[in-house]
Amino acid sequence: MQNTIEELLGLRSLLDNVGAHIFTKDLAGRYTYANRLCARMWGVAPEKVVGSTDSDFFDAQTASNLRENDLNVIACGNTLEREEAITLATGEKYTFLVVKAPIRDDDNNIIGICGVATDITERKRLEVELAQQSNLLNTVLNNIEVNIYMKDRLGRYVYVNPRVARLLELGTSEIIGRTDMELFPGDFGLEYYHNDQMVLETGAKMTMEEPFIDKDGSTRYYWSTKLPLQLPGQPDVLIGFSTDVTEQRNMRLELERRANTDALTGIYNRLYFYQVADQEFLRSRRYGTSMSMLMIDIDHFKDINDTYGHLVGDVVLKAMAEHCQRSVRECDTLARVGGEEFAVLMPETSQAEALLMAQRLCSSFEGRALATEPTAIGITISAGISEFRVGDSSLQNIFTRADRALYEAKRLGRNRACLDE
Ligand code: GH3
Ligand code: MG
Ligand code: MG
Repeated sequence: MQNTIEELLGLRSLLDNVGAHIFTKDLAGRYTYANRLCARMWGVAPEKVVGSTDSDFFDAQTASNLRENDLNVIACGNTLEREEAITLATGEKYTFLVVKAPIRDDDNNIIGICGVATDITERKRLEVELAQQSNLLNTVLNNIEVNIYMKDRLGRYVYVNPRVARLLELGTSEIIGRTDMELFPGDFGLEYYHNDQMVLETGAKMTMEEPFIDKDGSTRYYWSTKLPLQLPGQPDVLIGFSTDVTEQRNMRLELERRANTDALTGIYNRLYFYQVADQEFLRSRRYGTSMSMLMIDIDHFKDINDTYGHLVGDVVLKAMAEHCQRSVRECDTLARVGGEEFAVLMPETSQAEALLMAQRLCSSFEGRALATEPTAIGITISAGISEFRVGDSSLQNIFTRADRALYEAKRLGRNRACLDE
């Protein structure tokens, strides 16, 4: 007898400490036993449990659902497992995974049920949260106007979002496992591969502009952000985000072009000339290479304006610029640096060579009709030449000498080129 009581107490202690809610009920739904975990959750003393029903501990809806589940077990006579969402009388909500089985007497008649319930509230909450997050992520990946992709260390795609598939006009499965060299024509794939390898080798996030030939054969430009990504339990991959920036790039180039161009003549403007001349000056100073500069001014241009009007003067300026542009070498930079003043920067050119070129230019204007409306207009020009000299501390030294040489050409009667000796 003593043994049996000890055994019972041991069993009770086991049931109280097993970490699950354990209970038995009779056919009328009255509890005949509930372990300490149940009592604790319901907020009642363990000895108050026996004889109570679910409506004593839960809200009405929960009590009715639980009763229905119990009756199912009683009706079918089998063990049933299901998730039960419950609301306590206090309003607290839980989700349990519950296994309920019929209890039978010696004659095999069902006299009640027993249940074991595991609290899966936290697991359910995480599942819901995960589903919400993955739903959100998929919505973003599927709809964003950015190409998103992941590649392994060998450059094989392991993920692409639908936009990449649309761009390549391939199914996602046709892209996965293949490399850029297989998917993109010419050197484009190789360029992407090298960019990716740089990111993987340095382990740093990088941004870059990448060209791409679209299906019509026109070049588009993508702004790409790439970084290594470490996924738990998986080898390092590269993740990339590429946005089509062709329009912005074209706009930027057009703005740059306008900023560097003279509106009337379409040749470079003073600002651009100074930038190029500055670079050439630094190069000459560093490497001792020669460079020459030509300052050109139209002779008696005021007379043309006075005689034919300002608009015709403009036409002459345009024609003058076109003619000069045809006369200079590809490596020379011609710019309109003032009203009817032009300059030519000649890299790797001595002043003797520049003088020859300037003389040819001066002669080429003599007797040439530049504007045909309302009448053919001939002009002459004067030019001053200077070159980089060791000891020049700034570009201004060369400008000053070229201006001086130009002044000398004017003084000597115009229609000529002079050096600053
Ligand atoms: P010089 O031989 O001494 O150079 O005589 P010039 O008459 O050409 O004198 P200068 O170079 O000092 O005068 C330049 C003239 O160019 C003055 C101005 O009316 C004219 N000019 C400047 N910019 C423009 C322009 O954009 N369009 C027109 N039509 N004329 C301009
Ligand atoms: Mg002038
Ligand atoms: Mg002039």
